Amino acid sequence: MAHQYSCSACDFMVRSESEDEVVELVQNHAGEKHDMTVGENDVRDGIENVDVTADAG
Ligand SMILES: [Zn+2]
Repeated sequence: MAHQYSCSACDFMVRSESEDEVVELVQNHAGEKHDMTVGENDVRDGIENVDVTADAG
């Protein structure tokens, strides 16, 4: 299971097995690219949980 977040304002997408890491990366992205501050809970609300099936590493 991985956690994934797609930015609503651009094509940015981040996926990680650590939800905390996704939150951090999204917050960094929003700040750097969009000059926006997003709350941790807002990020978590937008996170999708995706099954990463065995696609060859
Ligand atoms: Zn973006």
